[in-house]
Amino acid sequence: MGAGRGGQHGTGAAQGGQTVGARGPQKDEGSVPGADTLEDAIAKVRERLARAGHVAVLTGAGMSAESGVPTFRGEDGLWRNHRAEDLATPEAFARDPKLVWEWYDWRRGLIAGCVPNPGHKALAGLEEREPGLTLVTQNVDGLHALAGSRDPVEMHGNIWKVRCTGCQRVSEDRRVPIPILPHCGVCGGVLRPHIVWFGEALDPGILERAFGAFEYADVALIVGTSGVVQPAASLAGIARRAGAFVVEVNPDAAGDAAAVDVALAGKAGEVLPRLVPD
Ligand code: NAD
Ligand code: ZN
Repeated sequence: MGAGRGGQHGTGAAQGGQTVGARGPQKDEGSVPGADTLEDAIAKVRERLARAGHVAVLTGAGMSAESGVPTFRGEDGLWRNHRAEDLATPEAFARDPKLVWEWYDWRRGLIAGCVPNPGHKALAGLEEREPGLTLVTQNVDGLHALAGSRDPVEMHGNIWKVRCTGCQRVSEDRRVPIPILPHCGVCGGVLRPHIVWFGEALDPGILERAFGAFEYADVALIVGTSGVVQPAASLAGIARRAGAFVVEVNPDAAGDAAAVDVALAGKAGEVLPRLVPD
């Protein structure tokens, strides 16, 4: 590590960010020369991707929204009047493991019926073309791997994996419905979802891979994340400060000039295939 960056970065950071949607720029009009329509902005990002040695991608719940997986903060964010933040915690599991498993069983059932959307497939295609690409996801649904991404860095775990609260063994478990409570076949301990819950520490090896990728990226794509869950939310800033060209893809893109170079206000499943044509 250390000499990974090519030295030809940094022009974007001085130009300020811009949001471009179907109806053209919404702020900082003309601040990125030549990128005054969505078409131009997409061409510019494609050109950056073609020149990039290292590409880092971060995806959040919005990436899978078009596949039918509900986001936490959208309209479908509640389950039996519980907020996700009140169920996805070690305290909730200690208090009522049955309730937490019922919620996960419901989510697993929903996700089992979902397939990757054109955005997942475009990112798998980009990986084919860019061997230096690292895909980091906050999603736990496993859809990137289903689309063909080889080794996504799953920051928050995977909903199809379980971990024994006794012997800590991690294994794949695709049963839908899962018997509640599920028990470990080795030691008989209660199984929990292999998910990083609110208030829990992330795996240090996974964090290192994620931060390393964004530190050394020439181009960083931030797709479908509201940027409120740390530490994933700081990855864009790390890349930007290190000189990467940072692109956001989100229908609610804010186009915060301090955080991104270009904000493409559109859906992942529509914008990403245009960034990565066949
Ligand atoms: P979030 O729910 O906070 O935000 C979702 C973001 O996606 C919003 O900014 C929204 O504007 C955007 N969005 C909605 N539709 C989109 C589309 N079609 N294309 C692009 N963007 C779109 O999600 P988050 O920031 O990922 O944080 C939620 C946390 O919950 C994460 O830690 C994640 O692990 C977990 N989660 C995962 C899944 C999943 O695995 N699919 C689903 C829900 C929540
Ligand atoms: Zn066990």
